[in-house]
Amino acid sequence: MTTKLATYTRIRGQDQTQYASDQPSVNPARFTDVLGTYPVTSKEGVRAACIAAQEALPQWRSTPAPLRGNLIHNLSLLVTENKATLARWLTREIGKPYAEALGSVQEVIDTCQFFVSEGRRLYGQTIPSEMADKRLFTYRRPIGVCGIITAGNFPLAVPAWYVIPALLCGNTIVWKPSEDAPILSYLFCQLIEKAGFPPGVFNLVLGDGPTTGAALVDMVPEGLIDKIGFTGSSRIGQWIGQVTGAHFQAACLELGGKNPLVVTEDANLDLAVEGALWSAFGTAGQRCTSLGVLIVQERIYEHFMERLLARVAQMVIGDPMDPTVTYGPMISQRFLHNLLTFQKTLLAPHHTVLTPTQGQISRANPWPKFQGDPDQGYFAHPVIVAGVQKSDALYREETFGPMVAAVSYTDLEEALHWANDHGYGLSSAIYTRNSAQAFYFQDHIRAGMVSINNTTSGAEAHMPFGGNGRSGNGSRQSGIWVLDQFTRWQGVNWDFSDRLQRAQIDTVYAGGDTGFRVPDCDVAALSP
Ligand code: NAD
Repeated sequence: MTTKLATYTRIRGQDQTQYASDQPSVNPARFTDVLGTYPVTSKEGVRAACIAAQEALPQWRSTPAPLRGNLIHNLSLLVTENKATLARWLTREIGKPYAEALGSVQEVIDTCQFFVSEGRRLYGQTIPSEMADKRLFTYRRPIGVCGIITAGNFPLAVPAWYVIPALLCGNTIVWKPSEDAPILSYLFCQLIEKAGFPPGVFNLVLGDGPTTGAALVDMVPEGLIDKIGFTGSSRIGQWIGQVTGAHFQAACLELGGKNPLVVTEDANLDLAVEGALWSAFGTAGQRCTSLGVLIVQERIYEHFMERLLARVAQMVIGDPMDPTVTYGPMISQRFLHNLLTFQKTLLAPHHTVLTPTQGQISRANPWPKFQGDPDQGYFAHPVIVAGVQKSDALYREETFGPMVAAVSYTDLEEALHWANDHGYGLSSAIYTRNSAQAFYFQDHIRAGMVSINNTTSGAEAHMPFGGNGRSGNGSRQSGIWVLDQFTRWQGVNWDFSDRLQRAQIDTVYAGGDTGFRVPDCDVAALSP
């Protein structure tokens, strides 16, 4: 089936200068399957979408939050009803195995469910004043027009983490999804429209980063965007942080990772092997939370690696609709190309590749347990590299694919250095039965997220998600924490004394004085 899409915005039908070109979206596991073509939004189109969002803002922000929540409830029902359909499109468009795709859609539903009831909270506070006849309050206020730019590896869940709380809080949105998932993004927009959001509240612009994404960021200096939410690479995130910072804005930056997984000597090794396998190769290593550095206690290193490699050899790779595969294709040609380039440029003579194969899977370079036709997709071999040193680019750069560095350590202090020193700080894991080591690890790891006896991945809609250092600017998504990204606190003081009361100056302290009074106290006189 081929679908030709009109750009979905509330300003649709306007002149053609809003569209730069048409691009196809192709199934990365089956090149003959073209999902559709989509129009690339030009800078003019982006500007028009921002103006539409700005015009819709006054009415939307003054709509009571519980009523905004009701529309999120409608969206939750629509996504639930269409869960399998959305998951199938997700698998077709980015090659994520179907079971994982279903999980991604479920994450959208979970996020809706959390924020439906938040519409009936969105609490402010009442705070005691230091003066009589005066009341203090705080309110959460929406920020304004939010430009949301997202990566393609979680093409529904990650956008939902922005869009749902941002709308609930009374903001309007211009969303630039990844060029890797335009058709799915369009389908999601259709559900948002059907949920009943008023015209202009939610707008979609489609296209690549340098064209449409950069145009959206350019709207910050033009005064048309009040907040950017960006999920993607650390390189682009750093640039967006500079642009927004120069205009007194704090972007929400959710960036890359080099996530460590530590295995201690007393760990349950069966569990640790399964955890390392899933962390490293689930979604073909294309998660921000994928395993980057495997750090194993030296006394069990050889034994553990042997078991892990035996398990890797059993792994089924291929057709993402096949329920037996651990992973499917790379999301697009770009990700395969980047991975193959890393395998050429990051590997050094002092490294040992422990896995038997590397590069692209094809009939000429096969993976023994492959399902489907390898020449019809962007499939990559799993690669584990030993002998990595701290100064290596392989240790310092995210490879975003099925490629992992493995090192051994002597004591937990050394393991923590391996876990922290690359400067990323998104996710982390430790497998141990020793609670003292587990606590020490969680106290000293610099990552925003820590798993104990669980994989580096696995977010839940009501837990804070986000990173530190090169993984982000400390912003957090999900649960109550993301509210601070999409609202600003306003403090209100209300004086009903009918006279001028100056804080601190006219405050009447205990004892009737205006001013601080330290009670006389002769300590010596208190002595027995
Ligand atoms: P990317 O930075 O190239 O692209 C991400 C988004 O930004 C896309 O929509 C893209 O079109 C847009 N973009 C690219 N260049 C732009 C520019 N100059 N101006 C404005 N927008 C631009 O990232 P990617 O390679 O597509 O995605 C993988 C990266 O995303 C990895 O680093 C991964 O770790 C990260 N990621 C992070 C999280 C998280 O929550 N921390 C989640 C998913 C992915």
